[in-house]
Amino acid sequence: MARQATVIGAGVIGMCVASYLQRMGLAVTVVDGVRPGMNCSFGNAGALSSGSCVPIAMPGVARQIPKWLLDDMAPLAVSWRYLPRALPWLLRFVAAGRPSSVERSADALIALTRPVFDNLLPLAKEAGVDSLIYRTGQLHVYSTNAAFEGDRLALDLRRRRGAAFEVLDAQEIRQFEPALAPIFQKAVLFPGHGHCANPFALVDALAAVFQSKGGKIIERRVLDIEVGADGPRALVTDAGPMPVETLVVAAGAWSHRLARRLGHKVPLETQRGYHAMLADPNVTPRRNVQWAERKFIATPMEMGLRLAGTVEIAGLDAPPQYSRADRLLEQGRAMFPGLAGGTVTKWMGHRPCLPDSVPVIGPSDRVPNTYFAFGHGHLGLTCASTTGRLLAELVTGAKPCIDPAPYRIDRF
Ligand SMILES: Cc1cc2nc3c(=O)[nH]c(=O)nc-3n(C[C@H](O)[C@H](O)[C@H](O)COP(=O)(O)OP(=O)(O)OC[C@H]3O[C@@H](n4cnc5c(N)ncnc54)[C@H](O)[C@@H]3O)c2cc1C
Repeated sequence: MARQATVIGAGVIGMCVASYLQRMGLAVTVVDGVRPGMNCSFGNAGALSSGSCVPIAMPGVARQIPKWLLDDMAPLAVSWRYLPRALPWLLRFVAAGRPSSVERSADALIALTRPVFDNLLPLAKEAGVDSLIYRTGQLHVYSTNAAFEGDRLALDLRRRRGAAFEVLDAQEIRQFEPALAPIFQKAVLFPGHGHCANPFALVDALAAVFQSKGGKIIERRVLDIEVGADGPRALVTDAGPMPVETLVVAAGAWSHRLARRLGHKVPLETQRGYHAMLADPNVTPRRNVQWAERKFIATPMEMGLRLAGTVEIAGLDAPPQYSRADRLLEQGRAMFPGLAGGTVTKWMGHRPCLPDSVPVIGPSDRVPNTYFAFGHGHLGLTCASTTGRLLAELVTGAKPCIDPAPYRIDRF
């Protein structure tokens, strides 16, 4: 059995993997070019969605692409400049919207999301941040009955996988969330869902407890991986070589670059998302509220009200377009009339997305002692703890808590 492991990436995925590997008795080193939690895991909407299983590509997705190309402020937009590079990924994304593929993705996703609280709470408790985890439900709101009807297929996917929810009418919505504008006709309440009130603080605390138990976190950028017949030998980093035995690539939206060094070609694309964070807001919803047709989420956080969402396909290198965060703020004001507060901060992060919305978790079939944990897209915070547990079980040869087959890297 492996005794040591090195994890590339200190986002929520890498830190959950490292924490579970450490719990299973391995000496673990985490390598990241930045402080833990400072990339995509910093600014997400905090939703912990234990009944989520709806992939982003759904039947009929192809019909929507022209709209995404024509309006760069649409909830999902594709940059014209980046289109030639994104095209092969977009074609796979459209293919993933076939009903049979959607059902497969939904099965794979629900297995990861359902046990979120069981697998996350032990880590959060040990790190002293379980008070950040709320199980107060989530509300998905619709301003028209037609938008609600348009989501029937998604609700049906959830229902058939046992996700608990309740449909509310306009009057019930006002009872649940009195601060909402009286424009919402229908809502779906997910009582078993919840949220994390500070996603960065969660990763930071996981990193601190990991280090206090002897784990090492090294701030270096990995440039290449030296591989021998017996597996990975060393990481080539910006501060010199680092010997490795067992390797886990959990490098978020950058993982395909490292996977390629190991002989794997993976269709990973960044879906850039934004947030606008309002400190000292005069309005605080009781729970995480998602405006379904506008595709954004309002979450009560320790630091204020976070309005997060939107998808922009424009690659890893283009500068952020913060007008998208301004748009989130405008929409937040339409959602909560009179919304005001103190300082507004804006942020952009790279969601690591595979066409079928299912992450890669498991061993390389090409290089011994090498594992992957990336591609968690819109559900990385929710899926991180189950991913960490599953990956640690695969590395140590323990019985896996869920069937690892749907997450194989060789499915592409
Ligand atoms: C706007 C928005 C809202 C979201 N809302 C939710 C939500 O409500 N619920 C939910 O479950 N998910 C949500 N997500 C998704 C979630 O945030 C991501 O899936 C998750 O953070 C991905 O974690 P990660 O560890 O894979 O990536 P990251 O946090 O990006 O971590 C990857 C790390 O790898 C490092 N790295 C990369 N390459 C190298 C290299 N060569 N050398 C060294 N280090 C390297 C990076 O520096 C980075 O720190 C949201 C995302 C966005 C953008």
